Amino acid sequence: MKYIYLDYAATTPTHPLVLTTFKRAVIKHPGNPNSAHALGQEAADEIAKSLKRIRRLLGLPSQYELTPTSGATESNNLALKGIALQYSKMGKTIITTAFEHSSLTACANYLAKQGFNVKIAPCNQWGRVDVNELDKLIDDDTVLVSIGSINSEIGIRQPIDAIKNMLKRHPKVFFHVDATQSIGKENIDLTDIDLISMSAHKFYGLKGIGLLITSKRTQLTPIIHGGHSTTIIRRGTPATELIMSMEKALRIAIANIDDNRQHVMSINLYAREKLNHIKNVIINSTPEDLPHVLNISILGKESRSTVKYMSDHGIYISNHTACDSNIDTSATVLALTGKKKLADSSVRLSFSHLTTTNDIDYFIDVLKGYIS
Ligand code: PMP
Repeated sequence: MKYIYLDYAATTPTHPLVLTTFKRAVIKHPGNPNSAHALGQEAADEIAKSLKRIRRLLGLPSQYELTPTSGATESNNLALKGIALQYSKMGKTIITTAFEHSSLTACANYLAKQGFNVKIAPCNQWGRVDVNELDKLIDDDTVLVSIGSINSEIGIRQPIDAIKNMLKRHPKVFFHVDATQSIGKENIDLTDIDLISMSAHKFYGLKGIGLLITSKRTQLTPIIHGGHSTTIIRRGTPATELIMSMEKALRIAIANIDDNRQHVMSINLYAREKLNHIKNVIINSTPEDLPHVLNISILGKESRSTVKYMSDHGIYISNHTACDSNIDTSATVLALTGKKKLADSSVRLSFSHLTTTNDIDYFIDVLKGYIS
């Protein structure tokens, strides 16, 4: 069945060359990378080479350590819990924002229950962190600032460079960036960040593989313990084929980043123009947000009903994020607008270089029928 996919922020279709790399790795490097014999060591070498190339693709110096995880949810868990447990004697305050992915917020809430102090950084009317206010919020007890570079539901772009600069005045504080929605979509300077989360299925790689990248000074208490392993912070058997295919996906995404971004920008403008003429539709994303994401509220229509109606018409969009799709009210839109009627009726469209104006036209036609 033909369908219109407008949910690329939830996941992206796997690039065919990524699958080729995956299959080749499965066949060529079947050994367990933790095994001492030659077949195992060969796989371990391939992993080490792949991680080194990923590090270079991301523009990071050799001091950074790359730990393969099952995805950004695990990376965020490892970052927050790993730092909190490791440095609890130095301080127990963690600062984050009201616009984070549920995997980050849930970790912060869990740590709050364990006696950590979680503070929310003030943001301006567009949801961007007020760096001066964040500066004032940091005290002697603060060990970690954890912020997503791009919010997945609205596309809010946080001032990561300005936060980095400000944090130079607080050398004791670790900086974690959930870069899951940035990597592969737009250039981001990752240097001088202590912990970086990413996930391959957001840039046309496979699901089930991501990274937590850590700076040299960062020590983490592991959350997954086990026997001897090539990956020290996360024990277990590293997935050679997934790691190698993630490198391939990243290489392709980065090679096409500017062209793809330009295409997505034109799709975003096209969709905005059409939506501006539809009564009862409010656009929650601003033109400064990531163009891949367009969050709208359809007044009087509950978000879950909208997703169902669209799905019944072969259009796949999202209420909130895929991870919170069984909840009606969007915590993100509520935090941004303060208006429950916008939060209850918001849906997210997300675009890619594969999206066409025909896709948007079809969506708009179905939307008009839904509203009328
Ligand atoms: N952080 C952000 C900003 C995300 O968009 C997502 C995916 N929705 C995640 C974390 C979780 O990623 P994963 O699906 O790889 O666990």
